[in-house]
Amino acid sequence: MHLYPPINYIEPVFRPPSEANSLILQVTNGCSWNRCTFCEMYTQPQKKFKPKAQADIVEDLQRCALSLTSVRRVFLADGDAMALSFDRLKSILLAIKQYLPSVSRVSSYCLPRNLKNKTVEELAELRRLGLVLLYVGAESGNDQILTKIDKGETFQTTVDALHKVSAAGLKSSVMIINGMGGVNYSEQHALDSAALVNETQPDYLATLVLFFHQAEASFISAFGDDFVMASQRQLIQEMELFIAHLTLEKTIFRSDHASNYLVLKGVLNRDKDALLSMIKRALSQDQRISLRSESSRGL
Ligand code: SF4
Repeated sequence: MHLYPPINYIEPVFRPPSEANSLILQVTNGCSWNRCTFCEMYTQPQKKFKPKAQADIVEDLQRCALSLTSVRRVFLADGDAMALSFDRLKSILLAIKQYLPSVSRVSSYCLPRNLKNKTVEELAELRRLGLVLLYVGAESGNDQILTKIDKGETFQTTVDALHKVSAAGLKSSVMIINGMGGVNYSEQHALDSAALVNETQPDYLATLVLFFHQAEASFISAFGDDFVMASQRQLIQEMELFIAHLTLEKTIFRSDHASNYLVLKGVLNRDKDALLSMIKRALSQDQRISLRSESSRGL
């Protein structure tokens, strides 16, 4: 759609791959937590966390209303727009309805802690006002890894937040990072992440591969001496263990983010056997299974 919407962005702006056709509405700048040691998104000085003033958001929407037609989807940026209070989020959703009435889906990243002070009733009201989908970067279900990467969340806080999301009628998309614990924590990471996803039955599940542009050394130093980066083969073996332990009812699964070597897509558990067989073929170096080359991987 509109490659250059008339919005005063504080760059850089990030969004999930599946929001490529959405209008990115920046309602906060940066991330209020900004401590995860693997995250390179909001490190520049201009990205210090700050909510955007309501008047500025309304001005952005008014300009969009004048120049864009048929906007169907809006993604609230940046890293955790859900850090805003219920009242602020309600005002933003009402303004979207007023200026862009064709919008049928609003989505946002969401940290589990963002929902601690929001009730299920409040979230259900945001759902009625157009908020449909929350992307929750769980990263891992293993508490030891979550501490080592300074995620500021645990297995239980993530489960509690995701239960609240579904109780309010919102959809959830959970992200797990393949390789997050390196070689030494790979098994616990796969098993505990599968347990977290099984417990919460998200609508969507995505896996990314741990990937750095610059921060690899500082990540490893924060994690500890026991971090050993997984090889391509070890990453795929970890995915095999993770998928083998999933007991999902109807979750749309994707590992098509640019950081992945092996692209997998399906509905779980329906397609579990097919995905596991594809992984086995990739591990046995079946030439019919193509792996993304190192040079074409990226974020
Ligand atoms: S919560 Fe998300 S955006 Fe914030 S630092 Fe962690 S990974 Fe980055």
